[in-house]
Amino acid sequence: MSEPLGFVGIGNMGAPIAGRLLDAGHPLVVFDVSAGATAPLVERGARQAGSAAEVASLAETVLTSLPTPDIVESVALGPEGLGAGTRIKRLVDLSTSGPRVAARVAQALAAQRIAFVDSPVSGGVAGARAGTLAVMVACERAEFERLQPLLRVIGKPFHVGERPGLGQMMKLVNNLLSGAALAITSEAMLLGAKAGLDPETMVEVINAGSGRNSASQDKFPKSILPRRFDAGFATRLMFKDLRLCLEEAEALGLTLWVASAVRQLWLKTFNEMGPDSDFTTIMRCVEGSSGIEVRGRAAGRSSG
Ligand code: NAD
Repeated sequence: MSEPLGFVGIGNMGAPIAGRLLDAGHPLVVFDVSAGATAPLVERGARQAGSAAEVASLAETVLTSLPTPDIVESVALGPEGLGAGTRIKRLVDLSTSGPRVAARVAQALAAQRIAFVDSPVSGGVAGARAGTLAVMVACERAEFERLQPLLRVIGKPFHVGERPGLGQMMKLVNNLLSGAALAITSEAMLLGAKAGLDPETMVEVINAGSGRNSASQDKFPKSILPRRFDAGFATRLMFKDLRLCLEEAEALGLTLWVASAVRQLWLKTFNEMGPDSDFTTIMRCVEGSSGIEVRGRAAGRSSG
């Protein structure tokens, strides 16, 4: 039997990623503050731990998939955190937690001879299920080479640098594009629908033309046109990514005009649709009081 892996944070992303690791034959020790979250994995043979520290006393390699920078920091460094474990040698953080927290946690753990592998992912819940995530890794080259077989179970690993925080920066660059694509595609679709174009036809044309992007190819056909709003990424997390992105830009002395406008639209969605809404509800927020609903044919006729 191979060495157990630890996994903390069994949410929308953590659950399918941990599931793939089990499928690949890795015994797992799991922890989540929400007790129900780990149940399906425990049924499949994973061992339930009572704290992050316990996970880190049972496994040398621990992966985390946690919602916010402050939670990553407390799970890594808090009194019941991973740093309090007796066996852990490396923490592979798959969360989007921003470059500063990555650098801080890496430095604190280095003092305990625990390697921090800054390793955020992109590709959504569907990519997590299929094992096709882009994995953006910043750590020592030798550590990256050691982890490659494991990371290939969840997706395609890229070594983006040695300095912790560079993986996070890569992820923020990616999510600025993905958040902007969803925001502007929602506005473009509203415009076309209000003028009388059929939403499904518009998506087909855009995807055959130069306007195509991750929203037109993925979120609109699968989640927005059918009015399911079920992509599996919370608005609060998308807004967090834009916030972190603009904080970094400011710290670097850069003015990002379009990114600032995109952030405002995500803040409006956060306020109007709620932090826990699926991020595809930005379409509803953009529709506002226009009298239009951007719907696919199977989901009913576009009103207005
Ligand atoms: P989520 O909110 O669905 O899951 C987070 C999990 O962490 C929850 O089960 C929660 O109970 C658990 N948790 C919170 N605090 C904890 C603590 N102190 N100790 C242990 N467990 C704790 O979030 P998600 O959508 O799975 O995203 C996880 C991370 O991955 C985020 O940083 C997000 O930005 C990033 N991400 C998400 C997606 C996506 O499409 N959902 C895609 C790429 C990256």
